[in-house]
Amino acid sequence: MKASNRLVLTRAAMAIAQRDGRNVAIMVPKGAIIEVIGGPFNGSRLMDVNYDDDIVMMFTNDLENHTESTKRRSALALTKSSMCENIDDETVERIAMGHAVDPLIKDHVAHCIHCHARLLDYQEWVKWVKIGLRSTEGPDSR
Ligand SMILES: [Zn+2]
Repeated sequence: MKASNRLVLTRAAMAIAQRDGRNVAIMVPKGAIIEVIGGPFNGSRLMDVNYDDDIVMMFTNDLENHTESTKRRSALALTKSSMCENIDDETVERIAMGHAVDPLIKDHVAHCIHCHARLLDYQEWVKWVKIGLRSTEGPDSR
C-alpha cells in the first residue's frame, strides 16, 4: 500500500457528512483531493475521509475504484470512447432515477462497461440518499 493516503476522485462520489448532528448525503466532485483516514482499506463498507477539512464517510468501493494517487494522476490514461465523454453525471443520475433520456445514450450505458459501472454506483447512491432522507426528515414517524 502506498505511503500517502491522498487520492484524487476520478468521478463524483457520495459522502455522508455530519451537519448539526445529522447524517447528510453530499456529493464530492470529480477531481477533488481527499485523504483517507485510518487506511488501508480494511473490509469495512464506509471509510472516514478528510475532504476540504471536513471529516466525511465515503464508500470503500468508490475509494478503490474511482480514485487515483495524486502522483499517478498525470500518467493515467483513461480508456473511454467519445460517447462516454458525452455522458455526464447528470445523465447517469437521470437513468438511475428512471427518468427519460435519449434512447441511444441509455443503450450505450446499458452495454458500456465504463458507463454501466457509473450507473450501478448511482443506483446505490440514490438508494442511500433515500435512506438518508428518511432518517433525517423530521421526528420519528411511528
Ligand atoms: Zn461508455
